[in-house]
Amino acid sequence: MLRLVYARRTMLPLLWRGALALISAPRCPACGGATAEPPRAVGPAPLCADCVTPLGLQTGGIQGDEPLIWCALGAYAGALRRLLLRQRPRPQPALIAALAVQLHSCCAQAQAGSLLVPIPSWKRSANPLPQLLAAALVEASAGRSRLKADLLVRRRVTVGQHHLNRRQRLGNQRGSFAGVAAGSGLRRAPVWLVDDILTTGATAEAAAEALQDAGWAVQGLLCLARTPGPVPRPL
Ligand SMILES: [Zn+2]
Repeated sequence: MLRLVYARRTMLPLLWRGALALISAPRCPACGGATAEPPRAVGPAPLCADCVTPLGLQTGGIQGDEPLIWCALGAYAGALRRLLLRQRPRPQPALIAALAVQLHSCCAQAQAGSLLVPIPSWKRSANPLPQLLAAALVEASAGRSRLKADLLVRRRVTVGQHHLNRRQRLGNQRGSFAGVAAGSGLRRAPVWLVDDILTTGATAEAAAEALQDAGWAVQGLLCLARTPGPVPRPL
């Protein structure tokens, strides 16, 4: 009897601690598996190593300056492309938050004191990722950047760009955005556009142009993925 009581006293706390560890262990938002990292006091659970590698997420991200300065997590190909295609219709906030933390670590300097402007879709429901990503980047920056979604609006409808080359995309996007005039207080603040994918850059260029015309100091674009390889040649 005494032995049974002793066993209960020693085993139950152990089981309880095990159950708590199972509940509180950070789970990877992409696969649901446990991550190797200890639980964070704040912020989203990170992606596990098993997900980071096949997604091709580069340490430090990838950057470029054509057709405008941009910073991305990786190339829009393979597993990362499939993941983002799944996120567009059914975004998972925890996953977007984890990707935003990773993107923030790649281009944190770009965001210090910045205004983040998600590139709006013509239909607000068409692609929720730019808005979600921009909000998650603000969270990841611990408030050092600010979300200013209302600086940029769509002025007219554009057609789907999937089958358009760069020249057609430029024509499709030219004049499709309007920037809200910069007030004197924020005029000098660095502005970063936010989108999920950078392809030819025609949309980003049109958005940047509209904001610059309205007096904003556009620095470039933060995005999750950049289409690899040469952009389609003009006809
Ligand atoms: Zn995972």
